[in-house]
Amino acid sequence: MADREVAALIVGGGAAGAACAEALYEGGFGGSVLLVGREPEPPYERPPASKGYLAGTQDRDACLLHDAAWYAKRSIELASRTSVMRLDTAARTATLSTKEVVEYGVALIATGANVRRLRVDGAQLDGIHYLRALGNADAIRADAEAAEHVVLVGGSYIACEVAATLTSLGRRCTMVMLEDAPLSTHFGPTAGGFFAGLLRERGVELVCGDGLERLEGGDRVERVVTASGRVLPADMVVMGTGAMPDVMLARAAKLELGETGGVACSADLETSAPGVWAAGDVCEYDSVLHGGRVRIEHFEVALAQGRAAAAAMLGTRRPYAELPYFWTDLADWVTAEWVGITEAPEREVVRGSVDDGAFSVFHLAHGRMVAALSVGRGEDLAHARRLIAAGTELSGREAALAEGDLDAL
Ligand SMILES: Cc1cc2nc3c(=O)[nH]c(=O)nc-3n(C[C@H](O)[C@H](O)[C@H](O)COP(=O)(O)OP(=O)(O)OC[C@H]3O[C@@H](n4cnc5c(N)ncnc54)[C@H](O)[C@@H]3O)c2cc1C
Repeated sequence: MADREVAALIVGGGAAGAACAEALYEGGFGGSVLLVGREPEPPYERPPASKGYLAGTQDRDACLLHDAAWYAKRSIELASRTSVMRLDTAARTATLSTKEVVEYGVALIATGANVRRLRVDGAQLDGIHYLRALGNADAIRADAEAAEHVVLVGGSYIACEVAATLTSLGRRCTMVMLEDAPLSTHFGPTAGGFFAGLLRERGVELVCGDGLERLEGGDRVERVVTASGRVLPADMVVMGTGAMPDVMLARAAKLELGETGGVACSADLETSAPGVWAAGDVCEYDSVLHGGRVRIEHFEVALAQGRAAAAAMLGTRRPYAELPYFWTDLADWVTAEWVGITEAPEREVVRGSVDDGAFSVFHLAHGRMVAALSVGRGEDLAHARRLIAAGTELSGREAALAEGDLDAL
C-alpha cells in the first residue's frame, strides 16, 4: 500500500532530473511532481566543480540550476538528501529512504554516474581524490592549499581541467595518462597536440603513454609510481579515470541494461518498463542520429534529454535526435567546444591556425562531417552543426572546408 501518490516521480537531482521537472512545469503538466535527490543541495551544475568552483571564483549558490524557492514556487516537491531505495515498476511504486512508499503515474530515472575507482596498491591512502560532487571539489581545494606537487591521473577533460585550475592556483601539476596526448581520445590528434602544448607551456608536466602502477606513502600519499617505473612526488592525487552509470536502482528494478552499462532505452528514451523514462549520464538510448545505442555524458545532453523525457510524459513522443554538444575550459586559458556524433575521427581537416590557438578541426568519415572541435572560432561550430545534421557530402571539398566559404558548402 502506497503512503501517497504523485503524477510524476523524478529519481535523481542532477541536470537531467531538474530539466525534466522544469519542462513538465512549463509544458503545463498539471499533476504533482516529486523530484528525489540524494545530495544535500538542490540540483546543480557539475561542470564548475573542476573549473570556477574549484578555483574559488564561483560560489555554491551560483552553481545551482535553481534555488529551493524556485521549485517551491512551481509546486515541484524537492526531496533533497533522500534516495529512492526501491522501484516496483509493475505496481508503479517507489520506496524512499524515509520509508515512505510513493505511487507514481510516470517516472524518470536520472541517477547519473559515479566515478570509476581504480583498484591499485595504495588506493586507500589519504590525499587521493575523485571528483564528481561539489563536496569533492571542496576537499580537493582544501588539500591543495598545503600541497606543492599534485599528480592527476587520466588524460580526459576532468584531469586536464583540474590540472589547469590547480596550476593557476600555483600548484605544480603532473598528469599521467595512457593517451599520447591529453583529450586526444575524444577530440583527435590535432586537438591533442594543441592541448599538450598549451598545458606544457603553462607549466603542467605531462607523462603520456604511461599508466598508474601504484600509489606509495605512509598514511598519506607521497609518491605515484607509473607502469614504466617513473616515480613522481605527490602531496595529493586527483583521479580523472572516468565515470560509470549509476544503475543500482534500475538493475534491482529489473530494467533492461545496455551494452555500455546504462539503462537501455528506446529512441524516445523510454526504458523497458512502460511509463518509465531515463535521461542523462545513465541513459543508453537507441539513437537515430548515431545509428545505434549510445550513452553520452555531457551536461547539455543531460538537460536536453530531461526535457525530451518530459515532452514524452506530456504526450509528445519522438526520437531524441539532438546533436551532442560539449565544452571544456582549461582555467581562463582556453575554451574548446565540440559537436558531433562520433569521438573517433577517421580524417581531420583543420581550419584556422593551431599555432595561434584559433582553429577548428572537422572530423570526416565516409565523406561526411561527423564531429567538429573549435577553439576560438565559434562561428565554425554553427556551420559544422548544419553540415553534420544535413549529412552534406564533402568528399573532394576538403580545401573549401579548410579555407573556403563555409556558407557555400
Ligand atoms: C567535475 C565535472 C566537470 C564536468 N564538466 C563538464 C563540462 O565542462 N562540459 C560538459 O558537457 N559536461 C561536463 N561534465 C559532465 C556533466 O556534468 C554530466 O554529464 C551531467 O552532470 C549529468 O547529469 P545527470 O543529471 O545525468 O547526472 P548527475 O549530475 O550525476 O545527477 C544524478 C543525481 O542523482 C542522484 N541519485 C543517484 N541515485 C539516486 C537514487 N536512487 N535516489 C536519489 N538520487 C539518486 C545522484 O546522487 C546525483 O545527484 C562534468 C562532470 C563533472 C563531474
